[in-house]
Amino acid sequence: MNSKIWLSSPHMGGTEQKYINEAFQENWIAPLGPNVTGFENDLENYLGENKKVAALSSGTAAIHLALVLAGVLYNDEVLCQSFTFSASANPIAYQRAIPVFVDSEEETWNMCPIHLEKAIQDRIVKGKKPKAIIVVHLYGMPAKIDEIQAIAKKYEIILIEDAAEALGSSYKGQKCGTFGDYGILSFNGNKIITTSGGGALVCKNEEEKNKAIFLATQARDDAPHYQHSHIGYNYRMSNIVAGIGRGQMEVLDEHVSLRQVMHRFYNEIFKDTAGVTVFNELNESYVSNHWLSCVLVDEEKAGFSREGIRLVLLKDNIESRPLWKPMHLQPVFTTSGFYGSGYCEKLFNTGLCLPSGSNLTEVDKERIRIALNNII
Ligand SMILES: *Cc1c(COP(=O)(O)O)cnc(C)c1O
Repeated sequence: MNSKIWLSSPHMGGTEQKYINEAFQENWIAPLGPNVTGFENDLENYLGENKKVAALSSGTAAIHLALVLAGVLYNDEVLCQSFTFSASANPIAYQRAIPVFVDSEEETWNMCPIHLEKAIQDRIVKGKKPKAIIVVHLYGMPAKIDEIQAIAKKYEIILIEDAAEALGSSYKGQKCGTFGDYGILSFNGNKIITTSGGGALVCKNEEEKNKAIFLATQARDDAPHYQHSHIGYNYRMSNIVAGIGRGQMEVLDEHVSLRQVMHRFYNEIFKDTAGVTVFNELNESYVSNHWLSCVLVDEEKAGFSREGIRLVLLKDNIESRPLWKPMHLQPVFTTSGFYGSGYCEKLFNTGLCLPSGSNLTEVDKERIRIALNNII
C-alpha cells in the first residue's frame, strides 16, 4: 500500500522549536509570556487595519467569546451560515441562544446576502431582532462581505466573521478576519498554519481585546484575593503553543502560495473535463488562500459522480472528502429555522474537497494526477 496522502496535514517551517526552547529556558510554560505577546503582535501586523488580537485555546473558544462579548444570551437569536463546520454554530448553543441558519449563494458558496436580509426582516416581523450574524469564509473563499457588512450596519446587528479557514485570504486588498465587529481564526492541525491546536479573536480595539482576555482567564476581578463578578472561561493560549505560532507566521505567506499552487494544479487537471467545476474566485477582488481545493461534479455531464472520484482516490490511499454538510440538516439542529432555497444542500451532494496541503510533494501530486486521470 502506498503511504497516505492527507487532505491537509500540519507543515512545520523549522523555527517553531526555537521559540519553544526559549520558553523552556526561561520557564515561561504558563498560559502567558513572551511567545503569546509575540504571536499576537505578529498577527496584528499581518492583519493590519489597527486590529487587536487575543490568542486563545481554539477557534471555537474565539467564536464563543465573540458571542459573549456581543451580549448574546439565553433565547436570543443568532443568524449563522448553514454551510459550514459545526464549530461555527455550536457556541450559539453554549449560550443557550437559538441558531437560525441562512443559505449560501453560488458565487462564493458563503452566506447569501439576499436570504440574510429576508431572514432578518422575517425575524423582526415575528417579534425578535437577531443579536448577531456569523458569516464564514469557507475553504478560504471570501464571502460577499461588502453586502453582508452593509446589511449588518443597516439593521444594527453585530457581525462575527469566522475566518478559521481564511487566514491569508483577502477581499479588495483587505485581509479576511478584519471585516467583522469580531473576527475569529483557528490554528487547528489541519488549518493553513497550526499551533497543534489554538485560535484567536480579532478585536476592533485594545479595550475589546482586554475584555476578551479577562473572560478567557477566569474573569478575575482586581483584588488581592480571588474575586469574581463575571462567569469566566479558561480559553487563553499557552506560551508553548504560541511559540509554534510564531514559527508558523514566518512561513504563512509561503504556505498560502503553495496551497494556491495546488489549486492551479487541479484547474489544469480538470480544464477539459465536462461536468467538473473547480471552485474559483469570482473576480480579482477576491483572493482565496485555497485552504482546500474543491470541485463540483455534475454526474450527467461528467459520466461519473463525486463519490466516483472519492473512491478512485481512496483506492490509492488518497484522502478526499465531501463538502461540509449544512447545519440545518444536522440531527442536532433539525428544529432550527432555515432561510434559503437549499443551494448549500446541492453543494453538499455534489462537491468534493481534494488534497490541498502545502507539504504535498511532486511524487504525491503525480499519484493524485494518475488516480484522477483514471476516472476523467
Ligand atoms: C476549524 C474551524 C473552526 C474551529 O476552529 P478550532 O480551532 O478547531 O476550534 C470554526 N469554524 C470553521 C469554519 C472551521 O473550519
